[in-house]
Amino acid sequence: MINQNGKLVLYSGSSGVGKGTILKKLCEKDPNVWVSVSNTTRQPRVGEINGVHYHFITDEEFEKKIAEGGFLEHAGYCGHYYGTPLDPLNEKLAEGKTVFLEIEVEGALQVMKQIPDILSIFIVPPSFEELERRLRSRGTEDESTIEARLEKAKEEIGCRSRYTYNVINDDLDKAVQEVYDIIHQD
Ligand code: 5GP
Repeated sequence: MINQNGKLVLYSGSSGVGKGTILKKLCEKDPNVWVSVSNTTRQPRVGEINGVHYHFITDEEFEKKIAEGGFLEHAGYCGHYYGTPLDPLNEKLAEGKTVFLEIEVEGALQVMKQIPDILSIFIVPPSFEELERRLRSRGTEDESTIEARLEKAKEEIGCRSRYTYNVINDDLDKAVQEVYDIIHQD
């Protein structure tokens, strides 16, 4: 059961599209936005903090949480589990927060089935070439991971029409403003 006090927003876009940067700026602009902290079984990247960027847990812990019904949704992505924990999300919605779920497409489609009228935003790269350039230049993944993420990106971009809004990230400030306007319209 999802608390209805606040607003829940699905927010997706392929790896390297800059969706995290947009969200960081949006949080500075709108203090009522809260970004759900997911559970994942992947290893932390340099600079990622447990409990801030993700809750990094083991496969066993993740599977136990699935069995207990502790996730709103969960999915596999490039060899690892990712999932949205239910309890913190409901607490923040009860406080009236605008809760962003920054999740990949498979999980987002699961949530759309549960909540058909949910507000959903897909961040689109200016071009696939630009996405590849951004993914490579951030230097956080090895070659095989980059290849897998680019394949996944193609698949995900093909699902963008399932979302209520598509926002093209060719200008950061413009993209932040667009997302801001979307969540503030009635
Ligand atoms: P990354 O490994 O780059 O942090 O995330 C990989 C993908 O998993 C991204 O598209 C990200 O939005 C997505 N993701 C992060 N948390 C969750 C989650 O809780 N559930 C699902 N389904 N995807 C997630």
